[in-house]
Amino acid sequence: MSNVVNGTPRYRFAPSPTGFFHVGGARTALYNWILALQTNGVFVLRIEDTDESRNEPQWTQGIIDALAWIGINGNDPHFEGPYFQSANAAAHVAAAHRLFESGRAYYCDLTSEQIQERAKASGKPGYDGFSRDRNLEAGPGRVLRFRVPEGVTVVHDEVRGRVEFDNATLEDFVLLRGNGSPIFNLANVVDDLTMNITHVVRAEEHLPNTPKQQMLWEALAGRVPVWAHVPVLVNEQRKKLSKRRDKVALEQYRDEGVLPEAMVNYLMTLGWAPPGDVEIVDFATIVREFKLSAVNHSSAFFDIKKLNSFNGDYIRKLSIDQFVAACDPWLTGVRTAVAAVGDPPSAPWPAERFDRSVFLRIAPHVQTRVALLSEVPAMVDFLFLPDAPIDSVAFDKAFAAQWAVPALRAIRDRISVGEWGSDALKAVVEAVGVEHGVKLGKLQAPLRVATTGRSVGPPLFESLEVLGRDETLRRVDAALTRAG
Ligand code: GLU
Repeated sequence: MSNVVNGTPRYRFAPSPTGFFHVGGARTALYNWILALQTNGVFVLRIEDTDESRNEPQWTQGIIDALAWIGINGNDPHFEGPYFQSANAAAHVAAAHRLFESGRAYYCDLTSEQIQERAKASGKPGYDGFSRDRNLEAGPGRVLRFRVPEGVTVVHDEVRGRVEFDNATLEDFVLLRGNGSPIFNLANVVDDLTMNITHVVRAEEHLPNTPKQQMLWEALAGRVPVWAHVPVLVNEQRKKLSKRRDKVALEQYRDEGVLPEAMVNYLMTLGWAPPGDVEIVDFATIVREFKLSAVNHSSAFFDIKKLNSFNGDYIRKLSIDQFVAACDPWLTGVRTAVAAVGDPPSAPWPAERFDRSVFLRIAPHVQTRVALLSEVPAMVDFLFLPDAPIDSVAFDKAFAAQWAVPALRAIRDRISVGEWGSDALKAVVEAVGVEHGVKLGKLQAPLRVATTGRSVGPPLFESLEVLGRDETLRRVDAALTRAG
């Protein structure tokens, strides 16, 4: 099943498909990926698909696409898989039988009601080991339980240090259910063993499983992996990110126009800081500097505002050609990025009206003003829609002043002749402003809403230069009519 080379570190990412890709999962995957790159090791993707209700084939594709989007590419030589837990079921059962043969596990026929009754009678919660010495053979309805030894289990965790578990708190846990099917902890360990995994780096919520899993590792293989449990991501109220409450799907951020490089950099700053004062660092630096031992113990706030601000910085770092290319899906409705799942964003204008050369002229002014690529269409739609998409509230506000109509009329007359360009337009508006006793900033409002439909957008005079004289005049006339 695996192509392990002796001495090669083998990491793994083992998601259970859920239909979307959690940002916390993305961070765990990145940790494993970066460690594999750092050590020239292997990143194994294993889909933990044994829960039948979670077995949609397109969900696996969604995981692969989401990983590819954050740069964890299935074609990279460090990448191995995907493997499917369900395909390994025979090995899970065989391992359980080995544990039974060696006396490390035993069968038990108590029903859950009987277990509860015994617990009530003794005043000690949980299963009391009733069948430990009853020497039962396998049989219908009998579960196989691991014989937990007395003492303590010490887990050495790369992030949390030494973590001790009192074995008295771990009852003889189930390995095979009454119908013979394996339990998660067994399947998870047997898969890791089969795949020669050396490092288990995963979410903190699995820490309670770890003493049980460590016992299974020791019993089945006589070795344990390097463990690392990374703290959970929380929202502003310091509550664990949940799909009901929070925006947790990586795909959603992608579709809003977060750049993958920004997402990767941001995720990596959650609970870890690159050395020095800067947080925005390239991937090569992250791969060089990242250390599990430097990961924080406490939960990390997934701050969308900060992510957006990172993204704005990443957007501004793009060359203009890269920016235009990155905007393409939002402008043409055609997704060109690696990932192809989800609905492509749709542009708010008919496809045939979009003109890339026109966009290219305004793009430098847009690039400096957006935090998300999905904000781009609303900034430039006035150029590609047949008419300015008038925002009535903004319109009424801009035309509320007495001076608005006469001043706009004066501007209209002067810009209908002479040079056409942002400087000339600005000079005209300034002059009209002086004549009407209105500041340039204020006077731009009716002109802007008349021509672009909105009260905010890219710089006005540059926008009008691109819109062109005829269209500008037509829209100003329409606005003057509307304003009465
Ligand atoms: N399948 C588990 C999950 O998605 C991960 C188990 C592990 O990493 O060991 O939470």
